[in-house]
Amino acid sequence: MGEILDGKAVAERVRAEVGGRVAALAERGIVPGLATVLVGDDPASRVYVGSKEKGCAALGMRSFGHRIAADVTTAELVALVEELNARPEVHGILVQLPLPAPIDADAVIQAIAPAKDVDGLTVVSQGRLLAGRPGLRPCTPLGIMRLITETGVPLRGAGAVVVGRSLLVGKPIALMLLERHATVTLCHSRTRDLGAVVRGGDVVVAAVGRPELVRGEWIREGALVIDVGINRTADGRLVGDVEFATARTRAAWITPVPGGVGPMTVAMLLANTAAAAGAGIAA
Ligand code: NDP
Repeated sequence: MGEILDGKAVAERVRAEVGGRVAALAERGIVPGLATVLVGDDPASRVYVGSKEKGCAALGMRSFGHRIAADVTTAELVALVEELNARPEVHGILVQLPLPAPIDADAVIQAIAPAKDVDGLTVVSQGRLLAGRPGLRPCTPLGIMRLITETGVPLRGAGAVVVGRSLLVGKPIALMLLERHATVTLCHSRTRDLGAVVRGGDVVVAAVGRPELVRGEWIREGALVIDVGINRTADGRLVGDVEFATARTRAAWITPVPGGVGPMTVAMLLANTAAAAGAGIAA
């Protein structure tokens, strides 16, 4: 029976580490600041932004909340981002996605100064990752890498199968695994015989958004399984992209849903904000 990789516990450790960095920055007179931009009144987005702002407060960081009506234009949002780019007390800018139609979300994201891109979603940040240069990395993949590190499972030479190729998760996690010398296979909706490919994975990362798409019987004995998916079933339960119960009987390690990758994402956003405030990152 595989061990549960407890994202809540690891996220607590990350938060404690960030707290230490915040204290060190305070000695230099720097208080990390995160600007949050929430457009419209989507309840899930409101909860996510709220937890990010609370996370800042708990660690002695500042947050600057911007609540914007859904009828805002793309140009107005870009202007807001540019204003935040120029404010020295703002070290990180988080635009909560998805943005309501017809706003051009990409135009808004690309307006974020790379030095403040704590979600790691601008083409500059993504390009730095591709090129192996220092930069701010997307939070969910960063959190996944930290979870993998906690297991002690070696990545060098390991077969890593990533299911899902989004800019938010699949592509960046594939690059980060490659950086750590895994042999990476990146799957998507056109992949033939997904089961056969997943069976080759010493490490499996599922980021699809389809409940239990990855069957437990596909998991190789002793594999490390990271389930990014968050899916709500008809009866209101949250399930991942992996068939958890069966997968656990085969895996060495597996993340639960909820309580696996989810808590890591916010913790890594706080870590990125502290890093941006420490200004290791060039603009
Ligand atoms: P996207 O919808 O952007 O991407 C989904 C990917 O899955 C696409 O690349 C798609 O392929 C692929 N896919 C869809 N169907 C299949 C299939 N049948 N077989 C193989 N691949 C398939 O999703 P995200 O990456 O943004 O999110 C994925 C999941 O992770 C969601 O459940 C989301 O809620 C969750 N999530 C959780 C986070 C957390 O903090 N825990 C953070 C971010 C996301 P194609 O490209 O060919 O269409």
